[in-house]
Amino acid sequence: MCSNTCLSKLAVIPQLSSQSIAAIHQRIAGTPDTWTVDEIGDGNVNLVFLVSGPDGQVVVKQALPYVRSVGESWPLTARRSFFERKALEEHAVIAPEYVPRVLTFEEPAAITVMEFLGSHIVLRNGLMQSTRYPRFSDHITDFLAKTLFFTSDLFLSAAEKKAKVSLFNENVELCKITEDLIFTDPYLVDSRNRWTSPQLDSLAKAFSTDRELKVAITELKAKFLTASEALIHGDLHTGSIMVNQQETKIIDPEFACYGPMGFDVGLLLANFVLSYFSQAGLGGNPAYEQWLLQQVTEIWSEFARKFSALWDSHLQGDYLPQRLLTNGSRAYVIDQLRTDYLARVFDDSLGFAASEVIRRVLGFAHVADMERIEDPERRAVCESHALHVARELLVSHRKYTDIATVLDLIRAQRTWA
Ligand code: ADP
Ligand code: MG
Repeated sequence: MCSNTCLSKLAVIPQLSSQSIAAIHQRIAGTPDTWTVDEIGDGNVNLVFLVSGPDGQVVVKQALPYVRSVGESWPLTARRSFFERKALEEHAVIAPEYVPRVLTFEEPAAITVMEFLGSHIVLRNGLMQSTRYPRFSDHITDFLAKTLFFTSDLFLSAAEKKAKVSLFNENVELCKITEDLIFTDPYLVDSRNRWTSPQLDSLAKAFSTDRELKVAITELKAKFLTASEALIHGDLHTGSIMVNQQETKIIDPEFACYGPMGFDVGLLLANFVLSYFSQAGLGGNPAYEQWLLQQVTEIWSEFARKFSALWDSHLQGDYLPQRLLTNGSRAYVIDQLRTDYLARVFDDSLGFAASEVIRRVLGFAHVADMERIEDPERRAVCESHALHVARELLVSHRKYTDIATVLDLIRAQRTWA
């Protein structure tokens, strides 16, 4: 008997053009009939295969015209793989050390052939094994600062930036998933939502009838819809990052679009916060919890430091025409603008982090960090702690102007082990 996956596995190589076959052959040797194909994807959306030959391995990722984990009842344009490739190309120019190398791409079949990250694991899995990655915060903040700065008006001319905005603006269907799953569904009664029931029933109901939350999430959604600040990854959770002790690679940018910088920073922060709150449900691990919170601090502070430094070295876009900086005003103007800019990105990041926590507890897609807590009573306590932090941040983000105060809020919710 052959399942759908098995059929796709048999079908994937014949869909490749002779150029792609040649590119794979160069990398792994052998011939298509001697290569082995195994499905390795643990993602929800696409098919990911490992193709092995005598001299090595490559990853072949294919988008089908529907969401893989749901099936044909949830159609989704396979053109998402085009935007994933475009984002990988941008990242390969701006921050090549942090992305897998793309070997070849088949547009009609929506297939990307890329480097196999054989010595890396998905960061979320590493965190679930309580592994520390000493170089991670340095790498990810380098990636964030560079990709956000160099795709924004701070660096690009208006013409260059508008061309990129136009291209990525066509990633409509993937953005719509974010618009629905993050900014809408968790705040109403929707059949796609789920939560730890019955323990969180009353909280879920309270969230779906909370007027302040509806206002706050709509303000945030408006930023997502209108703020074309930078090319954002669009799905930067800990499952979209692969790591080992030396390297960090950011994968899976199929949700890439022009959006607010704080969206990427916020999603990342939220996934560390969720991992932190999950620890109590597994008996607690004070040293590792401390490390997770340290990552939250470093992600913000190192991002802010590196992003600021790029203003000194590369501020050349149409955001601030140099001819405006007359009469010795340069230092004053740049310092004021930069301070305000970073304060706003921080504020946005807190809001988006809060929205990510809420949707991962009350919405459609949950995180394994919490799901692995088998006892629903314990899981619900961890999730409710995360929800309380998130509600406070979503409604009152303007009260929090530095990361230390946010950490105080988080620690105050961690009330049992
Ligand atoms: P999806 O779009 O379905 O979420 P991902 O790009 O996240 O797919 O890939 C799913 C999984 O496949 C990842 O979690 C990882 O385990 C594996 N994977 C993806 N790309 C690579 C790669 N270049 N090298 C090694 N493993 C990969
Ligand atoms: Mg993925």
